[in-house]
Amino acid sequence: MAYHLAELGERDVLLLDRNELTSGSTFHSAGLVGQLRADPTLTKMNMHSVELYRQLERTESPPGWRETGSIKLASSLERMEEIRRQIGWARTFNLDLREISGTEAKELFPLIDLDGVVGACYMASDGDVDPSRLTHAMASGARQRGVRIATHTRVLDIIAIDGHVSKVITDRGEIECEIVVNCGGMYAPSIGRMVGVRIPIVPMSHQYMITENFLDMTAPRMPSLRDPDNLVYYRQEVGGLLMGGYERTSQPWTASLDQVDDIPVDFNSRLLDPDWNRFEEIAVNSQRRVPIMEQIGMKNFINGPEGFTPDNEFCLGETEVGGFFVAAGFCAHGIAGAGGIGKVVAEWVVSGEPQSDLWHMDIRRFGGPYQSPKFTLERVQENYESYYDIHYPGEERQSARPLNTSPVYSWHRGAGAMFGEKAGWERVNYYIPHATDDSLRPFGWAGVNWSSATVSEHLATRKSAGLFDESSFAKIAVSGERADEFLNIVCANNVVRGVGRAVYTQALNNRGGIECDFTVTQTGDHSFFIVTGTAFGTHDLGWLRKQSRELGYSDVLLTDVTDNFACFGLWGPKSREILSAITPIDMSNAAFKFMHSREITVGGIVARATRITYVGELGWELYVPTENGAALWQVLLEAGTSHQLMTCGYRSIESLRLEKGYRAWGGEINSETTPWEAGLGFAVALNKENFIGRDALVACQGNETRRLVAMTFDDIRRVPLGNEPIRVGGEIVGRVKSGGQGFTIGKAIGYAYLPIEHSQPATEIEVEFFGEWASGVVASTPLLSSNPL
Ligand SMILES: Cc1cc2nc3c(=O)[nH]c(=O)nc-3n(C[C@H](O)[C@H](O)[C@H](O)COP(=O)(O)OP(=O)(O)OC[C@H]3O[C@@H](n4cnc5c(N)ncnc54)[C@H](O)[C@@H]3O)c2cc1C
Repeated sequence: MAYHLAELGERDVLLLDRNELTSGSTFHSAGLVGQLRADPTLTKMNMHSVELYRQLERTESPPGWRETGSIKLASSLERMEEIRRQIGWARTFNLDLREISGTEAKELFPLIDLDGVVGACYMASDGDVDPSRLTHAMASGARQRGVRIATHTRVLDIIAIDGHVSKVITDRGEIECEIVVNCGGMYAPSIGRMVGVRIPIVPMSHQYMITENFLDMTAPRMPSLRDPDNLVYYRQEVGGLLMGGYERTSQPWTASLDQVDDIPVDFNSRLLDPDWNRFEEIAVNSQRRVPIMEQIGMKNFINGPEGFTPDNEFCLGETEVGGFFVAAGFCAHGIAGAGGIGKVVAEWVVSGEPQSDLWHMDIRRFGGPYQSPKFTLERVQENYESYYDIHYPGEERQSARPLNTSPVYSWHRGAGAMFGEKAGWERVNYYIPHATDDSLRPFGWAGVNWSSATVSEHLATRKSAGLFDESSFAKIAVSGERADEFLNIVCANNVVRGVGRAVYTQALNNRGGIECDFTVTQTGDHSFFIVTGTAFGTHDLGWLRKQSRELGYSDVLLTDVTDNFACFGLWGPKSREILSAITPIDMSNAAFKFMHSREITVGGIVARATRITYVGELGWELYVPTENGAALWQVLLEAGTSHQLMTCGYRSIESLRLEKGYRAWGGEINSETTPWEAGLGFAVALNKENFIGRDALVACQGNETRRLVAMTFDDIRRVPLGNEPIRVGGEIVGRVKSGGQGFTIGKAIGYAYLPIEHSQPATEIEVEFFGEWASGVVASTPLLSSNPL
């Protein structure tokens, strides 16, 4: 962080450590540096790390960067599929990952026993680095650029005034400052508590061993070796091997189910006692793959704590306290990530907003449930223990469930719902009894967690009507004399159109990238109701609060009202008939227009009805006080019986919206994509004089170099999952953003940003599915026309 802040020209940077640099987790790190990760931004960050470590190696304080390459073995057919998928993924970054045979792997790492090895891959540009030397190399670079470093200086407290940091109190004096970046590793939660910020990081015991020297040290160093099916990794350490892994039984260190972590005040440069019992499985596996491990003595055993997050990704960004950033929780890949982490967080600090799509690492992805130590710990453990597993699409986490439930939860259970979980909410994915036959089951991974119930629910919504429980939607009430003024500054669309109007809008960053994607309904002269995705409430509310603070609108009240209202979506050609039978209100198109909202009674229950759709069919969202949710659901069900109403889950929403071309934030759109590129220009009100991102939008209008396109594949079972490379005329031109099945059009669908010259409808493209290229076409959109009145 300090190094990169200085690189960006910041001269007033002070780095504090309560002990020596490296005396937390860093000094006992294994130092492996792999680049390819499941997230594109993270992959680019790790690529930056490698580039930086190479450069530092040429300075006077080299970090001990060794570009030895890395091998990953497949000890199962499923793993080989994963490897082939990753090779395609790597292609989109120009990363040199290539498939090799077991025999070739053995040539590179001669100690392997090939029994059970199906294949492998090799990346020559991966390597390892000495974590302590790396820290000192960066510290030296930072000092040369003017950073001051104060070791043996303990932060005791942090003072915030009016919601913004102003002072750090240490055992050696006080420091006034506008920005604090909490880089406290596994200690970060305790530093967060100083300003009332909960950081869901848990110190976990993490172990590896180092053997005696037995290798010919004059021979070239071997690449690192991972065998995830056997839970182990190895790398050469001097003339021996360092071997570690992820045990199936995890061990939190200081945290328990009812207490957040509490690391002893003198825990620096220290290790934990070896936990042999837990390591045994890994030790046995390691001998199976590298038999010489059985004969060589052990020189060293490390059990060091490391901060893990509930989803095994970093915890970065500005918190709800202005100027208080966090960059911690690196889940045993903080050395691989360090260069990239420093870069992206320094950019965020200096410019006030992230310069790349950091959503999967953003602290704001951890909403309310993560305030609970129990929820956090159970999730951390589940993710730690399944770290090396193959994660198929549609996989659901099982720990800490159920937590938040809709008022109709029991009904769903009784009706055979298959639940998924999002942001702590139980949500219906589909109802098992709706399943029919497997004729449309996708090939390969996309078919693993698939159900034909989704087909039935999709088709019922298009043909008659579907009833969806969307109570988990995040809901924000905005009020105050200047609420309208504020919202029109933060939203790209004109959201002030009079009481009873609902407006779809994006909120942009200063680069014109999409920070939030939501609907704003005006409920009163100075009151509004924002609805956003289940997982985005903390992010969007945090973003809005930051803007209100920084733009001088602290008088505007922003309240999370998610739990106050249940929400049901009633959509399909029969939805009007169904509703009309149970409300005295005229629901005709003339009386109740699209994107209008009003309070009505439904079966005697007062509800806010908003005529809006996320599935491309006529219909309404009905918001009711949570306590009336179960009753309203019953009323709707009964009214729908004679109209073939089917209850539906989130899987069918996904398929319906992909077919209709509705965007999802975090899917097709994010902070790096502009509304122009994403085909959302219709929701930008450039006639407003002033809104965040307007200047950037005006500057880039008409100069887009890429465009979001829909691609279709004739075989509906050939489903892209996301991240696959796309080529046109043999050249890689992009990667898939999202994919699914369109049961009405009878095709598989993918979305991607393609260079403008390849974005025209009818352009023939190819997508690589697990090593095989399949043909598709850029489709005319919308894939499904008509929005019935
Ligand atoms: C066994 C093991 C193996 C690993 N292997 C790898 C690997 O192969 N590859 C990889 O990429 N990563 C690996 N890691 C992870 C990696 O080591 C860590 O992610 C990384 O070192 C974390 O660095 P950090 O700077 O965030 O935290 P730390 O190194 O823990 O630094 C935090 C610092 O904060 C200071 N501090 C805390 N409280 C205060 C306070 N109140 N005031 C002032 N200072 C304070 C501490 O003194 C400490 O120096 C491994 C980790 C372990 C435990």
